[in-house]
Amino acid sequence: MNAISAHRADMLSVTPGLVNAHHHLYSAMARGMPASRGVATSFPHMLELVWWRLDAALDLDTIYWSAKLGAVEAVLAGTTCIVDHHESPRAIEGSLEAIDRACSEVGVRVRTCYGATDRWRDDDTLHQKVSPLSPMTKGAKRGLEECERHIRSGKAGMVGLHAAFTCSNETIAAAADLATSLNVGVHVHVAEAIDDSQAAARLAPHATDEWLIVHGVHLDRTLPGRLAHNPRSNMNNGVGYAAPTTRPNTVVLGSDGIGSDMYEEFRLAYVRLREFDQTATPDVVSGWLDNTRELFPQSKDDRVTWRYPHADDAWHAAFTTGMRVERVETATDGSSSPRIIVDRGTTTLVDEVEIRAKAAEAAARLHRRMEDL
Ligand SMILES: [Zn+2]
Repeated sequence: MNAISAHRADMLSVTPGLVNAHHHLYSAMARGMPASRGVATSFPHMLELVWWRLDAALDLDTIYWSAKLGAVEAVLAGTTCIVDHHESPRAIEGSLEAIDRACSEVGVRVRTCYGATDRWRDDDTLHQKVSPLSPMTKGAKRGLEECERHIRSGKAGMVGLHAAFTCSNETIAAAADLATSLNVGVHVHVAEAIDDSQAAARLAPHATDEWLIVHGVHLDRTLPGRLAHNPRSNMNNGVGYAAPTTRPNTVVLGSDGIGSDMYEEFRLAYVRLREFDQTATPDVVSGWLDNTRELFPQSKDDRVTWRYPHADDAWHAAFTTGMRVERVETATDGSSSPRIIVDRGTTTLVDEVEIRAKAAEAAARLHRRMEDL
């Protein structure tokens, strides 16, 4: 090693791979989308004005390019594994395979699910309010079938539900039964906003330790399962603070679709926690990152090299914004060799520039379709 490269090595540090416990890869193309028609007056109203318009415009091509862009942005931030939650009511069949393929081409491990929901009636119009006693819709049934097909094909997956307030009791019970039969958990938004505060009561008879309980800001009781904390999304939506340290659940960290930079999420989770509890230390939130790695134990053998000498120290990482990734090497899964998926700050298996260009073209098509909805 010559003097220059030895000096450069001193500027680097290595951590295991990072894991995103709750992502929506389909939202990578939300950036630049048409403005919402009106000002949201509540959280469900915002979902209707923005997110349900976006997911209704998705087709398999835009799902693929969105996932590919999201996967590229994840690995460039040192995130090697993603737990994804997907919805595309007009392109359900094949959607999970498209996401899986896009991530695999970039070198990212993904465990996706389709978020079944009864919010679309069988005539393709939107329910204003889903009665818990209403029968399961065709859309919800197709969503659960997509989860089952994906998992039975041998791919990593979970059974998804959107949220209790858009699902009938029949759909919730069917999702829980399907997850048990497939030996996986249910991935579901729970009590994200005050409007969904009844969720835990309806989910409690079904939830198990394998479930991924997302948000839990307005939980009125303890549910089994891991609690996915999404501080940036919660602040963006103004839904309140989840106060994860007050919950008995194992806490994991997610981005809820706003990128997949988990150190950035860690820093935000830390300062939001400090606002709540001035005695808290970065070690608490670093523990949440470690918990998140348990969702993909292989991530612990991945090696992320940072252009910063103390990325492996929680107290440094909490106060060092903009740490950049130099190299990412993913561990073998038993059937393949370790792979370098990022080198010198860019992807190696795919052309980052080409993917950004293709994704931009797909996003333009998606946004045009949104204008028509
Ligand atoms: Zn979410």
